[in-house]
Amino acid sequence: APTKDVAWEKSVCRFCGTGCGVMVGTRNGKIVAVQGDEKNPTNKGLLCIKGYSLPGIVSGQDRLTSPMIRKGGKLVKATWDEALDLVARKFGETLKAHGPESVAMYGSGQWMITDGYAASKWFRAGMGSNNVEANARLCMASAVTGFMTTFGSDEPMGCYEDLDLCDVLVLWGNNMAENHPVLFSRVLENKRKNPKMQLIDLATRRTPSTDAADLYVEFQPQTDLALANGICHLLIKKGLVDRDFVEKHVVFKKGKTGIGYGLEDRFKFADEAKLSTFDEFTTFLADYSPDKVEKLTGVPVATLERLADTFGNSKLKVMSVWCMGVNQHSRGTWMNNLIYNVHLLTGQICKPGATPMSLTGQPSACGTVREVGTLAHRLPADMVVMNPEHRALAAKIWKVPVEKLNPKPGLNTVEMFRAFDRGDIKCLWIQTTNPFVSMPNLNRYRKGAKKGEGRFIVVSDVYPTETTQFADVILPAAMWVEREGMFGNTERRTQQWNQLATPPKGCMADDWQILEVARRMGYGHLFPTDPKTYVRELFEEYRQFTLGNGKDVASYEDLKSHRGLRWPVVNGKETARRYVEGEDPYVKPGEGIKFYKNKADAGKAVVWLRPFEPAAEAPDKDYPLWLSTGRVIEHWHTGTMTRRVPQLNRAVPKAFVEVHPEDAKALGIQDGQTVRVVSRRGTLDLPARIDGRCKVQKGHLFIPFFDESLLANLLTLDSYCPISAEPDYKKCSARLERV
Ligand code: SF4
Repeated sequence: APTKDVAWEKSVCRFCGTGCGVMVGTRNGKIVAVQGDEKNPTNKGLLCIKGYSLPGIVSGQDRLTSPMIRKGGKLVKATWDEALDLVARKFGETLKAHGPESVAMYGSGQWMITDGYAASKWFRAGMGSNNVEANARLCMASAVTGFMTTFGSDEPMGCYEDLDLCDVLVLWGNNMAENHPVLFSRVLENKRKNPKMQLIDLATRRTPSTDAADLYVEFQPQTDLALANGICHLLIKKGLVDRDFVEKHVVFKKGKTGIGYGLEDRFKFADEAKLSTFDEFTTFLADYSPDKVEKLTGVPVATLERLADTFGNSKLKVMSVWCMGVNQHSRGTWMNNLIYNVHLLTGQICKPGATPMSLTGQPSACGTVREVGTLAHRLPADMVVMNPEHRALAAKIWKVPVEKLNPKPGLNTVEMFRAFDRGDIKCLWIQTTNPFVSMPNLNRYRKGAKKGEGRFIVVSDVYPTETTQFADVILPAAMWVEREGMFGNTERRTQQWNQLATPPKGCMADDWQILEVARRMGYGHLFPTDPKTYVRELFEEYRQFTLGNGKDVASYEDLKSHRGLRWPVVNGKETARRYVEGEDPYVKPGEGIKFYKNKADAGKAVVWLRPFEPAAEAPDKDYPLWLSTGRVIEHWHTGTMTRRVPQLNRAVPKAFVEVHPEDAKALGIQDGQTVRVVSRRGTLDLPARIDGRCKVQKGHLFIPFFDESLLANLLTLDSYCPISAEPDYKKCSARLERV
């Protein structure tokens, strides 16, 4: 409870994309406690175990507090001036000698909004390089391309209130109970108040989300593509399509099918789409008869029928949610499209409680990466560097000649690290992320980082990590409420907080670091200079991109006085549901529902003809098991923060591999025994977990990726969705051995 000498102020949780409001209690510039913010509509005072542990993430004993420079192979302490001068000199020399494609910045969905904006502007308007990326490529890129191809605009139409109002919630490969726990508690509260509410868990493994489900539907990996098409097949066959909605709001399209998009093609996908028809769609779906889908997916025909009947029941409000199971998929864009198909055919969209909703993993994957545009082909507010009109607007706001802006997209994350491995990228700055734990097929990229040969790596972080060990320069960062900041969450809510605590001496904010290097390189004219106001000035400049085109973020002043506001914010009023008359100010009276951002299709959404395609790698004679990776509730990403919180670390101190009891029995493996998991890319020895919190299918394995000492990504595959360039961390083949 609050005490007299503790000052309490609003902030936002540093962890997942839910964006829970927290009240932070400080005394003399030190964080002494947190509590859930009852005034924040996201969580109404609730927090999960990670949220309650927030004070511990700033107080690890090994905070980085001094810049370090590698000299004679060893990292030694340096002053900020020495370190920043060196970074500026290396980037400047590399740029001059090898051009804008030889430098790169790799940031994060945990970047604050102004960090990403400063990085993007420094690269694009300063150095003329589009090699600015963020780790959200690894988690949300397929959601972005799914939204863009179906609705012509990124991010959800629905909002969290829909979780309270739906009659049916369908989880598509989503362990919401562990990965978005506070949102899941809203679902459980809905179920408590509305006992008829159904939770349907479509998944490849049983999780704590399954424990609360009314129906568990287990499918084989990758066959969700067939499952969604099978549901659409039955919707048409049973006459459950909302013909009126489809007539008014939908067009049909087909794109390229099959594998083999080149990198350049990836940015042309919209041009290559051809209009199709409802009849052609029906013919396409003939291939997804219930019998055939049952054989492929393992889902019984009766269950498929139940799913179709549920989505097609106009008396029920049906909501779908998904996250990494759908996005980290060799056909992640298609899978996003297919979920929208189900909702568009049935009109289960843009209504309270009836909506598809893509959840986001990181606290500002939406706010910083998707909205600010810190992916290699993007500019703020859904604009792209390839479009001359978009470049013209960016040049105007940034006050630079338009020729300065490079029209060629930079490299996506996987290609960026491949280019670094080859030596084509020579200078790489990594902020707020730990790629030498989180990249797939790690052996390949860790070898590249060790090569030296003129490569230069800068790492800004809070603690020593697997990635800082590869650095030539380490810059110690101030984090979370040690600085003023903003995040944007899953439901388009931008949230602001003030600096509430004093960072350890020597730690500086990421955006300040970027501005200082840019200034030393001669790009100081691009950025504000007043340390007291630069955050507000950067944000207000970024906001110019968003106004008037349906992406309007709130003013800094409004954000300071609210518990976040959901864009589009027009005349200070937020929007709960996009595209809906009376809620979204861009929908004119009489229009009802209008997907107004999809101008190419006259304000209609697209139902795509997307086929099933096998996984990039599947079990075979040598590697007979499916391997999937993911998170546990106690740990955040690569564990650099949560493993420094004693109670979280004690709860789950070490990674493990989940094994089905029959597979364990066949190999004579006991629970807790060390086993070896081998894939074509690497080997990992770790304890077996048999019949633990989650339960894999027979023939499947699962490893969480939080443990820096047991790297799950030594085993994973770095193939990616050819449209979004997001890797598939959920499927590769492996074998299990006794050690
Ligand atoms: Fe933080 Fe996510 Fe937990 Fe909320 S649900 S407290 S945002 S980790």
